[in-house]
Order: sequence, then C-alpha cells, then structure tokens
Amino acid sequence: MSSIKKEAERCLKCKRALCSEHCPISTPIPQVTELFLNGEIKKAGELLFNNNPISAVTSVICPHERNCTGHCVLGKKGAPVEFYRIEEYISRFYLETMQIPEIKKNGIKVAVAGAGPAGITMTILLLLHGYDVTLFEAEDDIGGVLRYGIPPFRLPRDIIDMLKDIMLRMGVHLRPNTRIGTNIMIDDLFPDGYKAVFVAAGTGRPRKLGLVGETLGHVHFAIDYLKSPYSFNLGKRVAIVGAGNVAIDVARTAIRCGRSDVKILHYMGKDDMTANRDEVEMAELDGVEFIHNAQAVRIMENAVRCVYVDRIENEDGSLSFEEDYSRTFDVPADSVIIAIGQGPGADIVAAGVKLTQRGLFEVNEWGETDIPGVFAAGDIVSGPKTVVDAVAFSKKVFCKMEEYLKEHS
Ligand SMILES: Cc1cc2nc3c(=O)[nH]c(=O)nc-3n(C[C@H](O)[C@H](O)[C@H](O)COP(=O)(O)OP(=O)(O)OC[C@H]3O[C@@H](n4cnc5c(N)ncnc54)[C@H](O)[C@@H]3O)c2cc1C
Repeated sequence: MSSIKKEAERCLKCKRALCSEHCPISTPIPQVTELFLNGEIKKAGELLFNNNPISAVTSVICPHERNCTGHCVLGKKGAPVEFYRIEEYISRFYLETMQIPEIKKNGIKVAVAGAGPAGITMTILLLLHGYDVTLFEAEDDIGGVLRYGIPPFRLPRDIIDMLKDIMLRMGVHLRPNTRIGTNIMIDDLFPDGYKAVFVAAGTGRPRKLGLVGETLGHVHFAIDYLKSPYSFNLGKRVAIVGAGNVAIDVARTAIRCGRSDVKILHYMGKDDMTANRDEVEMAELDGVEFIHNAQAVRIMENAVRCVYVDRIENEDGSLSFEEDYSRTFDVPADSVIIAIGQGPGADIVAAGVKLTQRGLFEVNEWGETDIPGVFAAGDIVSGPKTVVDAVAFSKKVFCKMEEYLKEHS
C-alpha cells in the first residue's frame, strides 16, 4: 500500500477536526481524506482547489507544525497524521489533470497588481466567477516569492508553471514586466474600463541595517540574492545578518550555489529564534553555523564587526537584550548578506493609497483601501507573513469585491 494511502487511513476523521480549525484557510481535511480513500481523487482535488487554489503550494511550504499537523489529536500520544503529504499528492494530481470548467463570462474588467500568492488566488477566483482579469506583474514571470524567493529545493517551480498555465487557459490577460505605480498608475486603470483594482504587490523592498559599510561591493540584500543566486559571486566565507526564515533560505542556498562556508549572525539566543524549528534544523544539517547573541555594528571589507549581546531574563519573566560594546569581535566574510526584513516597494507606496505607520496599505477587515474600488491583500497589508495567510485574506477580500462589482458594474 502506498505510504500516502497508509497516512490517509490513519486519519480519525474527527467530527470536530482540530486540524481544520487551526488551518488559516479551514481546509476540509476529514472530507478530503474520505474522498481520497473512496477513490475519488479528482473530487478531493476539486474540493481543495475551490477552497484554496494554491493548495499544491501551501501543502509543501506551510508551517504545518503550527497548523494542521500540530493540532492532529493523534499527535497527543504518538505521530500526528501528516495531512500535507496527502494534500500535496492530491493537489498536484489535480493541477496536472485539471479540466477548465465552462465559465460564463460577465465582461466585467478587473485589474490585479502583483502575481504572488495573493494575486494568483484573487485572479483564479475572479476568473472562475466569469470576470475579465488583467494581471500586472513587475517581474518577467508570475509567482512572487514562490518563484523569486523560496529556493527551488524547497518548492518545485513546475507547480507555479502549472498555475500560470491554468490561469492562461481560463483567459487571464497577463502583463509581465509591468509595474503599477511607475508609468501605469492606479488612477489610469479606471478610465480603461476596469471596475475594481486588487493590489497584492507584497513586500519586495529589503530593509537596510543603516550601518557603515552597507554599500560596499560585497554586501547584498537577502531577497535580491534569492532572486537569482547564480548572478552573485559570494566567495568562500559568507556572513548573513539576521536569523529569520529568509536568512535560513539564503544560507542554505549559498551553501548549494556558492559552495560557501556560511555563518548566520543572530542578535538573540538560540532559543529565541523566530525561524521555523525544522528549517533551522535543516540548515544545521546543511552545515550552516549560527553565531548567537551577536549584533553587527559595522561592515568592513573582509569582516563584520559585532558586539556581544547580553540576554537578560527580567523578574517579570520577560526578556531583554543589551549590547555590550566592551566586547567586540570580527566575523571574517568575503560576502555579507543582510536579511532583516522587507517592506513594500517605493512605486506602489507612491500609488496614493493611505498607508499605515509601518508603511503598509491601510485596509479594513475586508481589504478595502481608502480609494473606492481599490482593494488589497497579502504581505502589502499584513507585512511579511505566510502564503496561507495571504490566500486566506485574499479569499475574504474576493467576497467584498464581488459585492462591490455587482453594485458598480
Ligand atoms: C525567502 C522567503 C521565504 C519564505 N518562505 C515561506 C514559507 O516557507 N512558507 C510560507 O508560508 N511563507 C513563506 N514566506 C512568506 C511568503 O512567501 C509571503 O507571505 C507571500 O509570498 C506573500 O504573498 P503576496 O502575494 O502578498 O506577495 P509576494 O509573494 O511578494 O508577491 C507580490 C508580487 O507583486 C509583484 N509586484 C511588486 N510591486 C509591483 C508593482 N508595483 N506592480 C506590479 N507588480 C508588483 C512582485 O513582483 C510579486 O510578484 C517566505 C518569504 C520569503 C521572502
């Protein structure tokens, strides 16, 4: 018996399915598993796709331990069901064999800016409901972080290609290499007949450290590096400043693409890391070295100067961190990669939508911005989060957009 089927048979199909309750997009896990075990893989795939058009992606890269797997009742005493493996198999099969349904077109034009997880989700939902969608994408291909951030050894690119093919077969008008907020502005879209605009431009602008040395030739930003690692010549010793999931992806990529020795410089202690545990574990297995309690204070031609950071456990149980400038040390580096977070691109920020204090798009709970007919979701609204969160919020925004489009078309 296949291991996938064995795994599905372990599912208790709980009446109150905690796995589904803790999935940000409420994947109907017991129902999908039941259909799969009854030999109805296409129906199972359809159920997954209609609930989450990019389930083939989230099944691979969701933080499962926080969501479905982490809440499986079997996990209390033994091994939890790894539903994501079943989901990956079904979703991929569904994309590979998907027949595009007959869709009655309504002729209403909608513009989507950004073809990452949020933009793809919205585009597919709009197409399935008969809208005429133009998808504007700044890069030369769709996917956003799925194509230009997450390394291929974690997420195979053919999944994104299949999603692109499905959207094209459904009739999307794709405008690659087109940035909204440079020559085409949001305001230009309405006179051309678009009835609503959905902005999902993500957070593609790296944050900088503000340190001396940051502009030197051997210093790079994490998301620039991940976009095309083979364009960079990192040299033997690579120091990465920052220790979140993005830093881990950079480290593992640099070991593979540059055959480099990689050190991650982390401000806090080993137990305070924000990156997913299994990602950290994989990085350690790959040979990444972590230097904890280190704050970079200066970047030099061949090293990063750090100060030691004291980890203080306060009486009230809280933690604080204090830099001790009397204890400095240099980490030798041929290249330095900065991975301390991202914000929205300057172009889209200048598009005229009201921003929050963090510089993100300000929206209400339905994704409405202060400009009538302009909606937003994904990282540009939440700040860097997860793919499944971007999908879940886009779905919610879709409901409001439909209401708006019905009223205004
Ligand atoms: C390196 C890395 C690894 C990650 N790993 C994981 C993971 O394992 N699991 C997980 O769940 N999440 C992960 N995340 C987070 C996740 O990828 C994001 O939360 C998610 O991609 C957000 O989707 P989005 O559609 O809002 O934005 P994005 O994926 O950033 O997509 C935005 C799109 O808009 C385009 N764009 C930008 N500006 C414009 C413009 N002006 N006009 C037109 N198009 C524009 C961009 O080119 C891009 O294609 C990771 C993030 C990074 C950076």
